[in-house]
Amino acid sequence: MTKTTAAIIVAAGRGTRAGQGLPKQWRKLAGRPVLAWTLDALRAGGVSRLVLVLHPDDMDRARSLDLSGVTLVGGGATRTASVRAALDVLASDPPARVLIHDGARPFVSARIIADVLAALDDSPAAAPALAVVDALWRGTAGHVGEPVSRDGLYRAQTPQGFHFAPLLAAYRAWPGDAPDDVEIARASGLPVALVAGDDDNFKLTYPPDFDRAESLLHARKPAMTDIRLGNGYDVHRFGHGDGCWLCGVKVPHGRGLQGHSDADVGMHALTDAIYGALAEGDIGRHFPPSDPQWKGAASHIFLRHAIEMARARGYALGNCDVTLVCEYPKIGPHAGAMQAELARIMGVEIGRVSVKATTSERLGFTGREEGIAALATACLIAG
Ligand code: MG
Repeated sequence: MTKTTAAIIVAAGRGTRAGQGLPKQWRKLAGRPVLAWTLDALRAGGVSRLVLVLHPDDMDRARSLDLSGVTLVGGGATRTASVRAALDVLASDPPARVLIHDGARPFVSARIIADVLAALDDSPAAAPALAVVDALWRGTAGHVGEPVSRDGLYRAQTPQGFHFAPLLAAYRAWPGDAPDDVEIARASGLPVALVAGDDDNFKLTYPPDFDRAESLLHARKPAMTDIRLGNGYDVHRFGHGDGCWLCGVKVPHGRGLQGHSDADVGMHALTDAIYGALAEGDIGRHFPPSDPQWKGAASHIFLRHAIEMARARGYALGNCDVTLVCEYPKIGPHAGAMQAELARIMGVEIGRVSVKATTSERLGFTGREEGIAALATACLIAG
């Protein structure tokens, strides 16, 4: 049978040593209150029944939190009084196990939570801790005094986990205050198993702790780069002429391409790919064929407009790839010049621009040499 688990988050303290004039659990970390991160961390560890103990003055602030599965409880004057109030609330529908966690430890990992719960299979209580590695001294009036052996010394963390019934009994038998719940459990004879803590599971206390917390969150943030792809497709038919404008290069040929502008089918496909990446329609939207001023226009006007629109929105061209589909003229000998011209027009390195060609095996309108088709892909990267 699955054992039910609840977590008590103790967050009623008034500690303002962390700065901003706010209790530290309400200070913002990456734009959200510390407590929002702590609740997320417990949920990520699989605990969905949460009791959040707040100072009565902070109840309004709780509206900024995701309170799904959360019971709010008004805290007492001390940590012990706050936990006692939360245990009393849980006692009406007691869980099998309870975790008690500091609201100002937002980086508790799912691993620690799992280890504490696993330890509760064999022990009525368990707590994460880290062995002390630094040398310890007693200090007296600003001077180093007696060394203290660090053997067997641990730094306590939370969540501290307990079988609910014996912990409730321990609290009811404990008259006063205690620095943490382990002390109350031990006083009633409960053995407490040690579980490995984690350096990142630190308690936010002083201003530099918030700098550390911000960099931890930054390091964990998944890449949020805005990458956009667009595709373009265009066709122009052959007509009279002595060559075709293709990707900004006039390629000698017994015929030309017909169109409203210079009919540069490759550049049109590429321009549409960039507009597509920006969700800005196609060339026709920005340069309507009904407008006589674009008759015979050089297509670099369109391409430059699209790439400048991308730049204005904060995007750079990652790369682009144009494929021309025709039997003739042969593109291969001109592909390098086309890449160079597209790169020049867009103001990017030539290595980001690809131009290639294929035939259609004499099939279809391109195979019958009625016209040329072009496909293009453009990748825009924010930043
Ligand atoms: Mg066109």
